[in-house]
Amino acid sequence: MPTDTLFAKIARREVPARIVYQDEAVTAFHDINPVAPTHILVIPNKIIPTMNDATDDDAALLGRLLLTAQKLARQIGIAEGGYRLVVNCNPDGGQSVYHLHIHLLGGRKMTWPPG
Ligand code: 5GP
Repeated sequence: MPTDTLFAKIARREVPARIVYQDEAVTAFHDINPVAPTHILVIPNKIIPTMNDATDDDAALLGRLLLTAQKLARQIGIAEGGYRLVVNCNPDGGQSVYHLHIHLLGGRKMTWPPG
């Protein structure tokens, strides 16, 4: 397990980011390179590198990540129109930052399948 990550530094406010929500378990902030009008990353404050590293003990935390994304989508006003939640895992999944995160993407029509 890595002892520190870029996103852990963002959660500790050591690296600047546009944080939109934070509590003792999760942090949400705008992606630095948005691919949709809304592109927010929701992370656990504790380091879980990939989805493969989550355990049954993280079940409640994983639920909080999803519900945080849902609440943010409502607040932003994209819930009714729709949005996409994405978790990339490892190289074939397109993961580039090894600190588990959910992408909240919205504000435009999404296509399927993803590239
Ligand atoms: P992944 O490819 O791992 O699923 O997504 C990582 C995301 O983190 C990318 O969308 C990328 O733009 C974003 N990202 C990388 N570095 C930073 C950063 O320093 N600040 C913020 N806010 N987002 C970042």
